[in-house]
Amino acid sequence: MFDLQKSSEDEDDDIEEKIHQDSSTVKKEVEYPYEFDEERRKKAKVYSKQKMYTGLLGGTLLSLLFLGIVYLSGFAEYLAIGIGDLTESTVLAHHWVNAAIFVALFFLLMFLISLPISYYSGFVLEHKYDLSNETLGEWMKDQLKSLTISLLLSTPIVLGLFFLGYSFPNLWWLYAGILLFVISGVLSNISHLVILPLFYDLEELKDEELKKRLIEMAESNGVKKVEKVLVVKAGEKTEKANAGFAGMGRTKRLLLFDTLLDKFHPKEIESVVAHEMGHYVNKDVIRFMLINAVLIFPMFYLAGEIFTYWGSFENIYQLPLFLLILYGLYSLVDPATLAYSRYREKEADEFALRTVKDGDAFVSTFKRLSDIALSEVNPHRLVVIFFYGHPAPIKRIKMAEKKVIAENTPTKKQKG
Ligand SMILES: [Zn+2]
Repeated sequence: MFDLQKSSEDEDDDIEEKIHQDSSTVKKEVEYPYEFDEERRKKAKVYSKQKMYTGLLGGTLLSLLFLGIVYLSGFAEYLAIGIGDLTESTVLAHHWVNAAIFVALFFLLMFLISLPISYYSGFVLEHKYDLSNETLGEWMKDQLKSLTISLLLSTPIVLGLFFLGYSFPNLWWLYAGILLFVISGVLSNISHLVILPLFYDLEELKDEELKKRLIEMAESNGVKKVEKVLVVKAGEKTEKANAGFAGMGRTKRLLLFDTLLDKFHPKEIESVVAHEMGHYVNKDVIRFMLINAVLIFPMFYLAGEIFTYWGSFENIYQLPLFLLILYGLYSLVDPATLAYSRYREKEADEFALRTVKDGDAFVSTFKRLSDIALSEVNPHRLVVIFFYGHPAPIKRIKMAEKKVIAENTPTKKQKG
């Protein structure tokens, strides 16, 4: 998707006014081209830092600490033994059933431990900066939905990995790699059909003229058979804007956040869609699937070698150790995959600039996107290396400005 950092959602308790909801009926005039708002630039500096620190603390450090503590303290082993004792004289008394209960409880515990920081980062901060329109109840409901989906997915996957590791000690990494490749391929194709509607209402774009223009632009650039242009009613939850193409073949759809339609000039909307078209035409989804496939086999192989040095796939309670090793290996390659992602984003930007041929619209889009989402436009290089899957906004703006200058500079031939 297009946005500069992951959009999170959220708002105030029990206030049922959804002012932002009705997007398609009244179209306000938006100022164009957009210029940075100094007030929002100041806020963005503080907000983006707070988001980064809470993300680091809640996402990375806390997870690592949790995994380390539950493993080293022996808690994981006690938990597994306890589950075994409880199910012993029941119909659930089976090695793999116990393992499934252990994995689900383990992930539930991990979710609960990180809940306070998720709440602070995803609800409190978002409200403090007026970026969320969600009530606490709605936010909690979304959290529960995410938890359910992740439990339904990760429990069988983890069990599958341990089963393969246990049953095929030499070739488990090959089978596990294939399994995960297939699962992620299926998920990336159906998540907009199955998972997205669980979080957002979707409706067809009513503005026939815009729809026609966007589809024509897509088709003339090789994105054939866009089946639907759907509006994601995200404004009920967040102020942030986004867009993207989803699916392949018959289910190919263009998704536009209502926040994008509401707050952006038609020229900017075209720039955003052109960028997304760039990803589609450049086959970025397939590229990333292949990269993941290439990485996952050696990663599993190495993780298995290290893991079985200390532990065994026979013992599900050693899951925290396995996850720690996998996490460590992923962290090593993460800067490389992020760098590749930034490169693909730059290519999509270049595609968009070639297609729309309007550098000014592009510059305006990035300034507006950054101000709305309170993104830091010029983050420290190290922050970019370790966290950014998109080039820093300032780079994208400068690239578009260069394009504007090039457009307005007469070539040697014209000068005579
Ligand atoms: Zn992109």
